[in-house]
Amino acid sequence: KLFNELQELKGNIRVYCRVRPFLRGQGASNTVVEHIGEHGELVVLNPTKPGKDGLRKFRFNKVYSPASTQAEVFSDIKPLVRSVLDGYNVCIFAYGQTGSGKTYTMTGPDGASEEEWGVNYRALNDLFKISQSRKSNIAYEVGVQMVEIYNEQVLDLLSGDSSQKRLGILSTTQQNGLAVPDASMFPVTSTSDVLELMNIGLENRTVSSTALNERSSRSHSIVTVHVRGKDLKTGSALFGNLHLVDLAGSERVDRSEVTGDRLKEAQHINKSLSALGDVIFSLASKSSHVPYRNSKLTQLLQSSLGGRAKTLMFVQLNPDVISYSESMSTLKFAERVS
Ligand code: ADP
Ligand code: MG
Repeated sequence: KLFNELQELKGNIRVYCRVRPFLRGQGASNTVVEHIGEHGELVVLNPTKPGKDGLRKFRFNKVYSPASTQAEVFSDIKPLVRSVLDGYNVCIFAYGQTGSGKTYTMTGPDGASEEEWGVNYRALNDLFKISQSRKSNIAYEVGVQMVEIYNEQVLDLLSGDSSQKRLGILSTTQQNGLAVPDASMFPVTSTSDVLELMNIGLENRTVSSTALNERSSRSHSIVTVHVRGKDLKTGSALFGNLHLVDLAGSERVDRSEVTGDRLKEAQHINKSLSALGDVIFSLASKSSHVPYRNSKLTQLLQSSLGGRAKTLMFVQLNPDVISYSESMSTLKFAERVS
C-alpha cells in the first residue's frame, strides 16, 4: 500500500532494470555489473577505472539479475496489467541499446516456448482469460492493434496488405482512447488468437527488417490491447488500454560514420526517444506543461502517459564491458525519469 502511495506521488512511473545474461559463447568474466541489491540497487564498475573510483550506484524500483525468468518478471507486473480491466490506461516500455534484451523481455526469443514467452504474450493471454472468467456483471471485450513507428510514420503491422500506408493519430481525448483508429483491430478470444496475432505482427516486422537490414531495431513497435467493459446492469461502459512498447535501439550513432537513410533514421530515433524522456520527466517532476506533441510516439501514447495512467519502463542492460558507455547513457536516461 505504501508502495502504491509513493508511486502516486511520483506520477505512477516505475522503472525496472533488467540485466541480460551473457550469451552462449561469450565469457562471463567481463561484466560491468558489480552488485545487484534486493531493493533495486545496481552498482556498475567503469572498466577503465578499476577500484572504488570507478563504482557508480543506481537505484530503481527493481533490478532483475541475469538469472531472472520471464515468469518472474511477469508475475511482478501482473497487477499492473490487470488494472486495465478496471479502466486504467497502462504503458509498458522496453528501453536500451540494440542487443540488450528489449525484444526478449517484450516478446521472447525467436521461436519461444511457452516458458520463454515475453510480456506481450503473457499480458494478452492473461487479459483475455480473466476477461472471460471474472464473476461479475461486467462483460469484457479484448481487442488488439499492432503498429510500428518508423521515421515518424505509423504503419500497421496487422494489415493483410503490405502497402504500408501511413496511419494518422487522433488527439486522444476520446472516451475509448483509440489513438490510431485506422490500424487493424482484431478481437482476442483464445490463446490461439493471441499466438496468431503475435505471429502476424512479428512476420510483418521481420519482412521489413530483412528488406531494410535490421529495421526492427530502428523502429518502435507498439502492441495495444484495448479492453471494453460493459456493466450488464446499468449499461455503462468502461475502457482501458495497455500499450506494450519495444522501443528502437537507444545507441548513439556516430554522425561522422553514417549518411543518408541511416542518418535520417538515427535522427528520428534520437528525437522520439528524447521526446519520450522529456514527457516522462515532466510527469515525474509534476511539471505543468507536458510536451506530448514533439513526436509521433508520445502523441500516440498520450492517453496512457500522465493523469491516472500508469507507466512502467524496463531498462535493459547488456553487462558486457564493451557496452559500458552505452549502458551508462541508458542508466542515466533511466535515472532522469525515475
Ligand atoms: P534487443 O531487442 O534489445 O535488440 P534482444 O532481445 O534481441 O535485444 O536480445 C539480444 C540477444 O540476447 C537475443 O539473442 C536474446 O535472445 C538474448 N537475450 C536477451 N535477454 C535475455 C535473457 N534475459 N535471457 C536469455 N537470453 C536473452
Ligand atoms: Mg529487438
